[in-house]
Amino acid sequence: METRSDSPRWLIDFQCPRCAGNVCLEETERIFTCAWCRVKLCLGSRGPLECYIPAPPGPGENVLYVPYWRLKGMVFTCTAGSIHSGAVDLSHIALTAKTLPWSLGIQAQLTRLRFLAPGVAGTFFAPTLTIGQAIAGCEPNFKQLGVPPWTETALHRAWIGEQTSLLYYPLARRDGQIVDTLQDRVFESVGQWDARAPAAMQPDVQVRFYAATCPDCGVDLDGDRDTLVLTCRNCDRAWKRGSEGLEETPFYVVPDKTGEGQFGLPFWRIRVDVEGISLASFADYVRFCNLPRALTPAMAETPFFFWVPAFKVNSALFLTLIRRVTLFQWQGEFEQRLGGLKCHPVTLPAEESAESLKTALADLAVDKRTLLPGLEDLRIVTKEALLVYMPFRARGGELIHPQIPLGIQRKALQYGLNI
Ligand SMILES: [Zn+2]
Ligand SMILES: [Zn+2]
Repeated sequence: METRSDSPRWLIDFQCPRCAGNVCLEETERIFTCAWCRVKLCLGSRGPLECYIPAPPGPGENVLYVPYWRLKGMVFTCTAGSIHSGAVDLSHIALTAKTLPWSLGIQAQLTRLRFLAPGVAGTFFAPTLTIGQAIAGCEPNFKQLGVPPWTETALHRAWIGEQTSLLYYPLARRDGQIVDTLQDRVFESVGQWDARAPAAMQPDVQVRFYAATCPDCGVDLDGDRDTLVLTCRNCDRAWKRGSEGLEETPFYVVPDKTGEGQFGLPFWRIRVDVEGISLASFADYVRFCNLPRALTPAMAETPFFFWVPAFKVNSALFLTLIRRVTLFQWQGEFEQRLGGLKCHPVTLPAEESAESLKTALADLAVDKRTLLPGLEDLRIVTKEALLVYMPFRARGGELIHPQIPLGIQRKALQYGLNI
């Protein structure tokens, strides 16, 4: 279940909307530069991206496309004794059909995808399970397979930064049987299938392309693959990628005057209300974690913020970053210009980052016995979230910060780009 950065990835073939050249994109990428006409475009979709695996050219049979949910992201599982974390890359059938495989095998990943569009020949079945129901469906299957941490009873489970998409898999009617057009598997008789066939749907246009250029000054924006925030070096502004276009988004930078090879890691600085737990001031936080610090009156006056990575990274490091950068608790001024800062991509929206806070509380709390049983029902309300770039310095293969005791392997950041 763990994603490895070298695991096979789904690739989507399509034509550049500007020059009709053949281009190809990884399943999770949303920004691309056409190799033929060099135009840089963003890809937007309302709702999850929908793709299909074209059936191999056959003897003119009617292809039946069955929907599967795809999900990639990080998952945190809090059990009575510990926190398990990992990356997930899974698929689950999006309708109820016990005779069909519940998950797409790894073999299917060797085939190429296309965007769903009107006019594709075949019968497409509409999903009847939500992504939440599909995830719930995965749990007993993983449990049965003995895949940790699913075998343990979770007090709380959080899915962070999950990218979901729908993938239609090709079946066909052949000699009175419903068969797999890619792997020659036979699932059931046509009679059985037809007796409870799901409702068919008309594929719709779903993907939109728009230029990845600054809406203000027209230069190509910085940012690629699946970053949510693109930046303009020319006018020092940041733009959020939406389903239909770009929208200006505020950002802040922790100043670092040294100008040494700086690398900005994006964080969400989040102020929350936690029901039943006082975390309004830095003094509250020191008490909650039982930190070895003498409490001063100033600490009781200082508002407290969580600092949560705005990017995906291996989940153990994600929790460490919350711990260290939250403890650092930058209280100085912010700048609102990037200057020469090299920015790591923002791959988690604020809401997704905030979903890790229950896990972070479980990680930080000194009194875990009181906190853990009520964790699932704990109400956390985000009051404010600011995007802040924290400058780190490159030292060999590591990023370091003079005031935060932590070396971040650049390889780990690279790995995070594939989660
Ligand atoms: Zn092109
Ligand atoms: Zn600009």
